[in-house]
Amino acid sequence: MAQVQVEALNRPEGSRVSYSSQEDQQFIDYAIELSRRSLAKGGTPFGAIIVVNGIVVGEGQSRVVELRDPTAHAEVMALRDAGVRLERHLIEDGVMYASSEPCPLCLSACYWARIPRLVFGATTRDVAESGFEDLQFYRQLAVPAERRSMVEDRSDEATRLRSLDVLRSWVDALPEPVVPKL
Ligand SMILES: [Zn+2]
Repeated sequence: MAQVQVEALNRPEGSRVSYSSQEDQQFIDYAIELSRRSLAKGGTPFGAIIVVNGIVVGEGQSRVVELRDPTAHAEVMALRDAGVRLERHLIEDGVMYASSEPCPLCLSACYWARIPRLVFGATTRDVAESGFEDLQFYRQLAVPAERRSMVEDRSDEATRLRSLDVLRSWVDALPEPVVPKL
């Protein structure tokens, strides 16, 4: 599977840290406590925190319904909070603790933030059995675009080139030659 290849390519040898410490237990318990608070406020039961050097630098609860924002998941809210507090968007020194295994959106957000480690409580299967669509979205990503439930229409070539022109302008303005990330 392509996913396994990516993991093998990017994870340094011996960098796997196993879940064991008392610190991990305290932080995942806090993420679960946030999920409980979210539920108590009428939200969905998800909570997440980001920890840097043993300090909580970001907290999030699901606020999708409250904010009418389908991206306001607990992990995303924790990343936004950490970004404001740390005044940076990359958190290469952080650990994400999520009350449940992240959905594809939140997992991708962790990659965008360069978070090197994730600890979670309930699994994607638990979440799916609770009526959330995470597992179905993971399956959507695993199939070719033409087989996904959302129609993805590619524009004509002239339109692609007009859009590409904007991308090229960005690349041309960079101080160093761009490194393609294929
Ligand atoms: Zn999510």
